[in-house]
Amino acid sequence: MTPILDRLNRPLHDVRISVTDRCNLRCGYCMPRSVFGEGFQFLPHSELLSFEEITRVCQALLACGMRRVRLTGGEPLLRRDLHRLVAMLAALEGIEEISMTTNGTLLRSKAAILKEAGLSRVTVSLDAIDEKVFQSMSDSRMPIAKVLAGIEEATAAGLAPVKVNVVVRRGVNDHCVLDLAERFRGRPETVRFIEYMDVGETNDWRADEVVPASELIAAINARWPLTQVSRARPGEVASRYRYLDGAGEVGFIHSISQPFCGSCDRIRLSSDGKLYTCLFARSGHDLRAAVRSGASDAQLVREIESIWRGRVDRYSELRSERAGGDEVGRRLEMSYIGG
Ligand code: SAM
Ligand code: SF4
Ligand code: SF4
Repeated sequence: MTPILDRLNRPLHDVRISVTDRCNLRCGYCMPRSVFGEGFQFLPHSELLSFEEITRVCQALLACGMRRVRLTGGEPLLRRDLHRLVAMLAALEGIEEISMTTNGTLLRSKAAILKEAGLSRVTVSLDAIDEKVFQSMSDSRMPIAKVLAGIEEATAAGLAPVKVNVVVRRGVNDHCVLDLAERFRGRPETVRFIEYMDVGETNDWRADEVVPASELIAAINARWPLTQVSRARPGEVASRYRYLDGAGEVGFIHSISQPFCGSCDRIRLSSDGKLYTCLFARSGHDLRAAVRSGASDAQLVREIESIWRGRVDRYSELRSERAGGDEVGRRLEMSYIGG
């Protein structure tokens, strides 16, 4: 199949699917309680794509070159019977990998059934090892032990290698970085430190809260010397480093300081069925309307193809050049569009 390329010559390989806009945590950088509090109106169930609808969209995406699916949210494990969706996607011809990003709090009891259904691996978000910092960052009383148990069970179930994602905010959890690295050194899981991004409109993002990955690499290297290893594949977002003492790897996602739009091969499907060609997109393409009004498979493929062919997004590369105020519409929240 000739790959379908966007206007910057990028193929479509990955889709991130937000299966729910709800979450059981309230991380301040993603779903601050001041906005996502008691009165917040989440999407009613009837507006969410059903598993059958998601599978149909994925089938059309496969015809456009997509090969890998990541389930995310919100918190994907809040969606009932998620393993059923995994099994339906795993049965599609051409799918190479199904993975999931989760906060890990509900993972322990579900890891085995998800693996059995066809999930390949998971990424678990965990911003601190210190209980107080974790609970303050997730604005919850969630015991950190639940997340750690979820990580252990995922590794034991073979959803491996588990990646542990840490969003670093200066003055909030940057003092936890060495502890986090130490906790997972010598273990099968790999920690990845992520630069705090200006996603959405609700987190009051400030550039001075971003800790450049280079600073973290220097700090970790000073304690446990590192050597850089090459990326696993083009489009891989993390830079990878190996501990010289053989204790495994650590990764860094330089979304702000070294944007990777040039190799961005991801599309996003929101929980209500809109397709977005960038994490920072302000408008999406309503595939739910097409699916629910009886579009044929061929029509769906044509629609996706034309969306991808017209894609010019490179928000992160333009961020530094942009002179504010030139954007139209509200930026979408990560919990909705799928982190
Ligand atoms: N609830 C799941 C979780 O936390 O893993 C999945 C959804 S969450 C939106 C996906 C990922 O986005 C998480 O790793 C989270 O830390 C990350 N994330 C959310 N807001 C972010 C921000 N402003 N900057 C960088 N990463 C962010
Ligand atoms: Fe929930 Fe994940 Fe967002 Fe935290 S980062 S509020 S766990 S969706
Ligand atoms: Fe891809 Fe948009 Fe992120 Fe650039 S800013 S890497 S185009 S999602």
